[in-house]
Amino acid sequence: MPPDAPDAYKYLQELTTHFGPRLTGSSAATDASHWAMQKMREIGLENVHLEHWKLPHGWKRGYAHASLTAPVKGPLFVASLGWTGSTPAGGSEGSIIAISRGASIEELKHMASSWAGKILFLVADPTGHKDTLKDLAGLGSVVSLALSSRVLAIVTGDDTPAPSGKSLLHTGPASFTGEVFGIPVVDMNAADRARILQLLKAGREVRIKLEVENQITSVPVDSVNVVGETRGYEHPDEIVVAGAHLDCWDLSPGAIDDGVGVAAVLEAAKQISSNGSRARRTIRFVLFTGEEQGLLGSRAYIQEHQNELAKHIAAVVMDDGQGPITLVRFSGHNALLPYFQSFTAQTSFLKALSADNSFELFTDAYSFTLAGLPGISFGQNSPDYDLLHHSNADTLDKVDPETLAHNSQILALTATWLADLPERLEPTWTKAQTAQMLTENKQHKILEMLKMWPF
Ligand SMILES: [Zn+2]
Repeated sequence: MPPDAPDAYKYLQELTTHFGPRLTGSSAATDASHWAMQKMREIGLENVHLEHWKLPHGWKRGYAHASLTAPVKGPLFVASLGWTGSTPAGGSEGSIIAISRGASIEELKHMASSWAGKILFLVADPTGHKDTLKDLAGLGSVVSLALSSRVLAIVTGDDTPAPSGKSLLHTGPASFTGEVFGIPVVDMNAADRARILQLLKAGREVRIKLEVENQITSVPVDSVNVVGETRGYEHPDEIVVAGAHLDCWDLSPGAIDDGVGVAAVLEAAKQISSNGSRARRTIRFVLFTGEEQGLLGSRAYIQEHQNELAKHIAAVVMDDGQGPITLVRFSGHNALLPYFQSFTAQTSFLKALSADNSFELFTDAYSFTLAGLPGISFGQNSPDYDLLHHSNADTLDKVDPETLAHNSQILALTATWLADLPERLEPTWTKAQTAQMLTENKQHKILEMLKMWPF
């Protein structure tokens, strides 16, 4: 760490080196939440506490070994997706059957009668069309169909060619609703996937052996969101949430997803509470868990604070990697846009920011959007993010201390601006208003596929 590193970077350095990966429901996540609570107390936040919620099942990674057994032999590198199952002791061996990601579930149902005893290998849509959202939304249905069709295991992975030398393993969820699947689902690194595809293209029968062990708990496990506040001087009962997610996947310390967000929230809290000038409204700093399993912690927050939602103004969340913030997304709440644009035009530090009405589905901000509030998220210039996050390379060395300090300041200014608006611009929307806006903005279908449409 540079000796004169800004505090945000020091927070991140502690977070990524004092604990193991902060997988939701793990003891490392619990330890990190106590650390975060302690930091909030040191910063001088008020009302610092933990809010408990239950994860339906806990999950712990064991081992995942794979090898090519025919037509040639050799090792393969794989990692389990979260909340997926194990092979029988001694492993499973079977021939690979390639399935296009572009196929609809109806098409797959027609083919599924020939799947028993095979290993499904998900491959890119032959048209080259790539839709990450749809891929994730559809994966849970494919896994369920595979399970009922007595498939041995599923192999997935990124189909975009990896930059040479960066053949990383990634983990992630098999669904976005906290479901568990009693079948192994593994990510395979891009180089091994390319090799298997070449064999399949050459018309060879490809067989692989997998030995996978994971533990799924049958009972719910406890998790916590960490909360602290600076109270407003005029409307202390009105709340702006500034948040990020404390949990991460378990292949790495989650420095960019979302350790940087956690560090920025703590740094913003420190700046706001130490400059002595409170905002009109309360700023509530929240570090969520369960984001990676389907925004579970922020959805639990919404449940827990139902009676207070009419008093919430907005939530602003940082969760787009290590790069500089370039965009502020207002998620369908365009009434705020012109006010924000005039604020940034007057604030030299923020002049380069753009703002628009777009959405970022996979952030805790979205839970607030679904609850009728502006779920504001940042767009960041993090070109390596898709490659690095959820992989074993999501480590501290990817983070530039100055950029993190700069992002922390943008988060502090945006939260303070919201909390200090002279008048509330609009009340919390009704369910009907929110449903209509999401439908008009083409969010309805994808939310239904993800089983997240709440209306
Ligand atoms: Zn994230």
